[in-house]
Amino acid sequence: MRLICVGVVLSIASLTVALADDNKGKKDDPSQIGNRDVGGFNCYSIDKEIAMGKQLAGEVQRQAKLMDDPIITEYVNRVGQNLARNSDAKVPFTFQVIDDPVLNAFALPGGFVFVNTGLMTAAETEAEMASAMAHEIAHVAARHMTRQACRAQVANIATLPLIFLGGWGGYAARQAASAAIPMTFLSFSRGYEAEADYLGLQYLYAAGYDPTAAIDMFERMMSLETRKPGSIAKVFSTHPMNDDRLKKAQAEIRKILPQKAEYVVNTSEYAEVRGRLLAIENQRKLRSVEKDTKGPVLRRSPGSGAPADDSGDDHPTIKRRDLVE
Ligand SMILES: [Zn+2]
Repeated sequence: MRLICVGVVLSIASLTVALADDNKGKKDDPSQIGNRDVGGFNCYSIDKEIAMGKQLAGEVQRQAKLMDDPIITEYVNRVGQNLARNSDAKVPFTFQVIDDPVLNAFALPGGFVFVNTGLMTAAETEAEMASAMAHEIAHVAARHMTRQACRAQVANIATLPLIFLGGWGGYAARQAASAAIPMTFLSFSRGYEAEADYLGLQYLYAAGYDPTAAIDMFERMMSLETRKPGSIAKVFSTHPMNDDRLKKAQAEIRKILPQKAEYVVNTSEYAEVRGRLLAIENQRKLRSVEKDTKGPVLRRSPGSGAPADDSGDDHPTIKRRDLVE
């Protein structure tokens, strides 16, 4: 009798291990996207998560300046929906564009994703922009924010100040208030970030994009960090955009993403929409110069260093890394 019990216990244990192993294997296999659990233990129901995310999204909409150009917003939403369809997430998504030159994108629990215009000015191809969005979708799919809140025993995420919510690239706001942020949230953490990179690469690939665009985007961020060390460097303290992260992504692409004959790298629509955004920003600059000329003018002498703004249209040429051996 006792032996049987032990046997039953053993087989349940091995079944559990086998299921966990099976899921682990699936997590490395992009053909299993949508057919695997990437969420892990969570103390919130999906419904509760969506409700909290919705509440927070309302807060963002009140505090941030949303882009109101329908061509830009519709396009970004369409790119996002295509990525979401190729992800493990089981919640409906909304993608909104924040009119902010800081390079950033962030996701709230339950599928509310925000993309700064600064991401589009920095990303030179649709695939590069999509790589950042795929990373955010991965945070939602793996339910990182609520898992983190479970660990920290936060009853309702929506009661947290928005400053807790990070983003793909820009932690400037959080950095500014870092003293007030509990470590449990700041450590949102290398593990989750690495997982979002890993799953994001798979979603990017599954949606038909060239996954090496993520590497290009990392390189772009590293060069931005070098160009603007004062304003950018600290931003990466919890999510360093360093060589390790880049090499890890390269290795993962080689290991788990079988080469396809064709990838989407860029689209003419992206070039058009980005051009539209840059034109809007240029118009604004012209208007502010006109305004400025009415008052005292401070001029920078030619060749005295980087431009004072963050329009990002003077990127150095970045060499593409060739992943094919
Ligand atoms: Zn992230």
